Amino acid sequence: MDSVETFRQEAHKMVDWIADYYTGIENYPVKAGCQPGSVFSQIPVAPPEDPEEMKTIFRDFEEIIMPGMTHWQSPGFFAYFPANSSFPSLLGELLSSALGAQCMKWETSPAATELEEAVMSWLKKMTGLPESFEGVIQDTASTATLCAILTAREKFTDYKINDAGFGTGTPVMRVYCSAEAHSSVEKAIKIAGIGKQNLVKIALDDEYRMIPGLLEKAIVADIKKGLKPICVVAAIGTTGSTAVDPLEDIAVLCRQYNLWLHVDAAFAGSALILPEFRWMIRGIEQADSFVFNPHKWLFTNFDCSAYFVKNSESLINTFKLVPEYLRSQTNVHVNDYSNWGIQLGRRFRALKLWFVIRSYGVRGLQDKLRKHIFLAAELKSWIERHTDFELMAPVQFSLVCFRFHPAGTDFTEELNLMNEKLLLAVNATGKMYITHTKLNGNYTLRLITSQTHVEPVHVRDAWNIILDKAGDLKNSIKS
Ligand code: PLP
Repeated sequence: MDSVETFRQEAHKMVDWIADYYTGIENYPVKAGCQPGSVFSQIPVAPPEDPEEMKTIFRDFEEIIMPGMTHWQSPGFFAYFPANSSFPSLLGELLSSALGAQCMKWETSPAATELEEAVMSWLKKMTGLPESFEGVIQDTASTATLCAILTAREKFTDYKINDAGFGTGTPVMRVYCSAEAHSSVEKAIKIAGIGKQNLVKIALDDEYRMIPGLLEKAIVADIKKGLKPICVVAAIGTTGSTAVDPLEDIAVLCRQYNLWLHVDAAFAGSALILPEFRWMIRGIEQADSFVFNPHKWLFTNFDCSAYFVKNSESLINTFKLVPEYLRSQTNVHVNDYSNWGIQLGRRFRALKLWFVIRSYGVRGLQDKLRKHIFLAAELKSWIERHTDFELMAPVQFSLVCFRFHPAGTDFTEELNLMNEKLLLAVNATGKMYITHTKLNGNYTLRLITSQTHVEPVHVRDAWNIILDKAGDLKNSIKS
């Protein structure tokens, strides 16, 4: 399919298909219901020797691939955190694919580098981060957190591990996070060679936030043992319940004990575009790094993670490598973002973000977020009013953590099993998709109202399905 004219015809058809897909998205079961191996078994073992027509490939896309897809952009998607997309973002992605640029250095596409610098500066203003912070787009929050931990490791060992590796004189480094921090912190500790037994998980208060007093105790105890505390990861919006760690108090400790402070706001960071949520980052000027994902709650296609650092020099000192074949003549200061992270090759991600911010405007984005938060507040009020349900955590943003708890069922195991059954039953309807976590050992249903196209009717329908399936479970207990 090398001819531009054939491409034009096929592309027009596909754009129509995409528009139809979004029009009818609610007709698909939200969660893929296929069995393991069912897609794989339909793909020929060997690739085709001869060219195939797009018509044939597309037929297989519809018949083999689509039944194996979970529809993340469906307004019935209330699971995990969303990876929400939007039409302007989709168009930006399309153009980025069309340009097909690999934007590793300024020179390999100056516009990509400079637009990235500009939109990261916009995001900084939109979220109220300190003016002096500098931003770079990473693929995911996991990568950003790994960058933060590697930078902390290097900074506190005078960039020696990068040079000489872990020698016998290397101190045992310690990193701290809350017991509800995302698993990407542990993964980063493993990859950074710090060792997961050196990740100290600090206990939580009754709203699932890190307790700063216990953090200090842990740091002091480690110093006494001759260990080297290097970093604290504070969560703004934990994955389980969107709890917000007390950043200001944590920041004071980090300054007192000279520790790197990394802030993981992967989901909830987007809420900072609303002035009423800025309290969450009091103390942020003390932080060394901060990440949030426009691909979670700012309508920008996965992947797009915004990573900000107080001092780009330590980041660049950790990652910079310029082999001969990448040397260039650029003699004015420009950002070569491949030196700001792990990967050399970089996609042109700034384009979709630019499209999104311009197309919605800051006010449009704020309106959408407020609507999501309002929908969660409504669901919260229905749960509070229902005697058979209870909230399991404070509702901070658009995530509601709750469980079915009919009178007379009080054993944790029994409740856990019943809520697991409820989750499976509501998801099996195909009309909605929720996921779970465990809070204090209690099976907790998580329903998040942050899908781009979610409307009040979808949340109301979801609640009715939950009530219906819970009613069936209650009846089965009685009989
Ligand atoms: N941090 C938090 C608080 C998260 O909730 C998540 C994912 O949900 C992550 C990090 C990892 O995000 P990513 O998939 O961008 O690596």
